[in-house]
Amino acid sequence: MNLHSSPLAADAFIKARQRIAGTVLRTPVVPSPSLTSLCGTSVHLKLEHLQKTGSFKLRGATNAVLALDETSRSNGVVGVSTGNHGRGLAHAAGEAGIRCIICMSRLVPQNKVEGIRALGAEVRIVGVSQDEAQVEVDRLVADEGMTLIPPFDHADIIAGQGTVGLEILEDVPEVGTVLVPLSGGGLISGVAAALKAAKPDVRIIGVSMERGAAMAASLEAGHPVQVAELPTLADSLGGGIGLDNQYTFRITQDLVDQTVLLSETEIAEGIRHAYWQEQQVVEGSGAVCLAAILAEKADLSGPVVALLTGCNIDMTMHRRIVCGETVDLMHEGEH
Ligand SMILES: *Cc1c(COP(=O)(O)O)cnc(C)c1O
Repeated sequence: MNLHSSPLAADAFIKARQRIAGTVLRTPVVPSPSLTSLCGTSVHLKLEHLQKTGSFKLRGATNAVLALDETSRSNGVVGVSTGNHGRGLAHAAGEAGIRCIICMSRLVPQNKVEGIRALGAEVRIVGVSQDEAQVEVDRLVADEGMTLIPPFDHADIIAGQGTVGLEILEDVPEVGTVLVPLSGGGLISGVAAALKAAKPDVRIIGVSMERGAAMAASLEAGHPVQVAELPTLADSLGGGIGLDNQYTFRITQDLVDQTVLLSETEIAEGIRHAYWQEQQVVEGSGAVCLAAILAEKADLSGPVVALLTGCNIDMTMHRRIVCGETVDLMHEGEH
């Protein structure tokens, strides 16, 4: 193992855990009898989709916000995500009593705008694209001294997400393989570094969708590359890793043992399995580890822990999927 690419001090995860303990839930790990009998080795689920704000993103955001110095705190924080990172950041800043502005374009659906506002953030609607929203963010940073909190490529974010790994180690000390949903790589970098520091031979498997897996394409190329963003059931896994990626690309390259890519049909099976067999409502991105096990695409050595990472799914869509409908977002609206 090579931890030299890690920006994290050896005690970063323990410090993060202490910092965020007052805000973040310690989520349960439960056995999955159905996957255990399917795999012939014990399979556990880390129910992180039950986290406040509906995803683990609250951990990194809380750690990053609480690590700010006094001046930065009084100037406030800013973000551009309308998804789970935006929700986590809004809640984290609210809990810490820090001003938070989330900038978004006029194209963002009203329910997402309201969701972020309800968590206590100011919403600033600018322009008609993510790029135009980014211009306002840059202005807030330059003119008002606000701090941009990015969704994954940041040492405090990685340390916060890595606290999931510490909890897994406590609950399943003999763990052999951990499956982690993979997008920008903040979660898998933190979990892999925290776990491998204590248990170097644990296997870490990253799971993404076939449609627009930026980290998998970057690992293949040997450097960060851009991929086309396509509609997918795993919408929280969309987006690039940043061509100027500082941390997560190298940590993922060093510490992740296998990456698995899934079709939309396989992701839908993961959502269905979570509901019917595990009694859990999970969004597409949160169900990919279950899907990878069901599709028998992951090389597992037990005991296995699969991470369920988020629950923020449109419930009408969820009902259609669990009732067996084939939902292809590429062709939604054509009928
Ligand atoms: C952000 C997110 C991920 C991926 O996390 P990265 O740190 O970007 O790899 C996985 N699942 C859910 C639900 C998310 O919101």
